[in-house]
Amino acid sequence: DILRQKRVMIMISDTGGGHRASAMALADALQELYPVHITIRDVWTESCPWPFSTVVKQYMWMAKHTWSWRMLWYSSKFPVSRWIMQKFANVLCKRVFMKAIQDDNPDLVISVHPGTQHIVIKALKKLARRQGSRSRTPFVTVVTDLGSAHPMWFHPEADRVFVPSDAVKSIALKCHVRESVIEEYGLPLRRAFWNAEPRTRQEVRQVLDIPEMKTVLVVGGGDGVGRLFQVAEAVGHQLKTLDGGAQLVVICGKNEKVRKQLQAVSWPPTVHAHILGFVKNMDEWMAAADVIVTKAGPGTIAEACTRNLPVMLSSYLPGQEQGNVGFVIEGGFGDFSTDPLVLARTVVGWLQDEKALQQMSNQAAAQGRPRATLKIAQAIGQKWLTTRTSTMLSMLEKLLKAGSGSSR
Ligand code: UDP
Repeated sequence: DILRQKRVMIMISDTGGGHRASAMALADALQELYPVHITIRDVWTESCPWPFSTVVKQYMWMAKHTWSWRMLWYSSKFPVSRWIMQKFANVLCKRVFMKAIQDDNPDLVISVHPGTQHIVIKALKKLARRQGSRSRTPFVTVVTDLGSAHPMWFHPEADRVFVPSDAVKSIALKCHVRESVIEEYGLPLRRAFWNAEPRTRQEVRQVLDIPEMKTVLVVGGGDGVGRLFQVAEAVGHQLKTLDGGAQLVVICGKNEKVRKQLQAVSWPPTVHAHILGFVKNMDEWMAAADVIVTKAGPGTIAEACTRNLPVMLSSYLPGQEQGNVGFVIEGGFGDFSTDPLVLARTVVGWLQDEKALQQMSNQAAAQGRPRATLKIAQAIGQKWLTTRTSTMLSMLEKLLKAGSGSSR
């Protein structure tokens, strides 16, 4: 066992783009620091029976019809309804989770989704009982919501709970998580956002081959939701009031329909519009922009903070993303409006006021946590992933490096 490489199983559900992105970011950071084997599993979709196997599709539908999301979010917040839902899920899916855990045989399970706490801890306990062991496999939660979080994120028996903000920490405490297991570093972000000193705006604009002028970035999460068309159109037209012209970049994510609609819009002559589909270099587009307009997605907001970017919020998912609005406004780096015209005027007002813009940019930077992913990985690794072999190997590596350095 001493020689065996440690195995980590990261549990998610592919609802929205953020959970898998966080899982991949964590996997990247863990592998950067430790010699671990990692699997990322959406067991709900992979192997659970209906209706659990279709939650990803249901979520996509509900994100567009927010009344239904509001109903589900708030009804599942009440302890009684939550208990019933969890019981139902346990009866139908606990064995499936046990099988997946047995197949992956992890030394540690990390959850980055509110739907993979209770059932996974139950499955781990049952597996331990079966093996006659008194201790189950360690279980860690990494919360990927920012300003508010559903109670399902929190299980009093989790061995560690990583929270991104004070607001989420206080929810965890209310849900009976012990303070001693809570750690606060920030949201796990992709490697491209780990660099605390990004390139200058001018440099990135050159790399992207776009003109040097005031730039507004409009996004709507991975799925391009949140009335992206109306918001982008209003911002684009309002930008014509800026002296010296301006630039509009709209990233539509996977929403091809909106991309085509926006490409057909005739923009004012002084406005350069770039309408894009799903991009992999969001960090560069953020670094090139002066302001971002987005729905209140936690990932996008946290990423924008690492790029010192003022944030204009255009919508939020009821419950889940509501607290993110407070996070931005109270943080002093942005505002919120669901009215596209009001929103567009506000953004143009910021662009005309260099001092206010700089102040918001500084406030955004103050909330940025570019090192969060590595810190979370390190805290997890120091506790659960260092074996005697890995410690010996890393010492050997350091010695060899030192040796080759001195011989140069
Ligand atoms: N994203 C991306 N390319 C795109 C659109 C979005 O990489 O074309 C990323 C974005 O940078 C963020 C994530 O998708 O990391 C969206 O996460 P968020 O929490 O903001 O919203 P969700 O889509 O999960 O509701």
